[in-house]
Amino acid sequence: MSKAAAIDIASVTKVYGSTTAVHAISLKIPAGSYCCLLGPSGCGKSTTLRMIAGHESISDGDVRLGNQVVTDLPPARRGTSMMFQSYALFPHLDVTDNVAFSLKMKGVAREERRRRALEMLQLVHMEPYASRRPAQLSGGQQQRVALARALITDPQALLLDEPLSALDPFLKVKMRAELKRLQASLGITFVHVTHSQEEAMALADVIVVMNAGRIEQAAAPRDVFERPATAFVARFMGDHNVISGRLAGSDERGVSIAPAGGGLFSAIGAPQDADAPIDIAVRTDRVRIGPASAPGLGFTGVVENVEYRGSSVKLTVAGAGVDDFTAIVSDTDFFAAPVKVGDAAPLAWNREDAIVLGRLAS
Ligand code: ADP
Repeated sequence: MSKAAAIDIASVTKVYGSTTAVHAISLKIPAGSYCCLLGPSGCGKSTTLRMIAGHESISDGDVRLGNQVVTDLPPARRGTSMMFQSYALFPHLDVTDNVAFSLKMKGVAREERRRRALEMLQLVHMEPYASRRPAQLSGGQQQRVALARALITDPQALLLDEPLSALDPFLKVKMRAELKRLQASLGITFVHVTHSQEEAMALADVIVVMNAGRIEQAAAPRDVFERPATAFVARFMGDHNVISGRLAGSDERGVSIAPAGGGLFSAIGAPQDADAPIDIAVRTDRVRIGPASAPGLGFTGVVENVEYRGSSVKLTVAGAGVDDFTAIVSDTDFFAAPVKVGDAAPLAWNREDAIVLGRLAS
């Protein structure tokens, strides 16, 4: 197996006619890491992946793999390999010949390429299906074949475009674990495009959150979850309430903000620009029903929705300055003092559970 390579994306832009799909992004993906490009549809994830692979030209900037600039190299000479969402298997070839295809193109002798293909099939537990045609396989099995085919070129980095999106939920979770296992055992760099926060959290060493062709945050899953960099990340990851307002006060630990609709909220951290509107994020799972311990660490609002989730209950509450606030409270706490739709409920949290968010320079 070849060595893993780091991927260095330096101020890379992609322009399609009048659309800028990717705006001068810079990103260093460490060698041997599992990186997920995460974001909503159309944010530029696939375009970025295809530029790393060489399936899309780069309008401006450079991509390096290890210490080689690969910006103008064709896909087969980059040391990367791509697995497509559609698997793109040849229907008329059996599984072994599908996996061995790129070796045939390179002129590797038949015996040698069949031997290597079987090795790859073993790696993805598909050896028993070696002589079947793709049409005789399930979706999950076809995907394993596509994976074996991508790995046979001995890449330094494997690029996966929404690899799990065609699978049913059960298979998705199973394949997810296998991808992680494979990446750990091969030790090569994986770059995996997904729009699923859960998938990225489960797999990645580094999550790169993209929005409208830009990177909002690139960090370990725990950092993205606990310290979202921007309002977009906080909303997209889905576990924070975002409140926006003007600076109303500050001390050495943080700030207080006053939303346009009223209310006052404190958060730790410093804003980039005290004159501009400030966004703060409050962890949904740290909110409790009860009075605040200090001003700015809670509010009283009207309960708009109550959703029972088994071990927790999700409340939606509207108050001054916050129209759609989510609180996830434990079932025990909720049923000790239940509230219902229409009730006025006091909500509170600790100061460390509200943080100041940043804004991207435009
Ligand atoms: P994602 O993978 O995050 O869903 P894409 O990278 O596919 O997003 O697309 C980013 C943007 O670039 C979108 O606005 C999309 O419409 C545009 N785009 C992608 N491919 C092409 C293309 N071949 N021609 C023109 N526009 C494209």
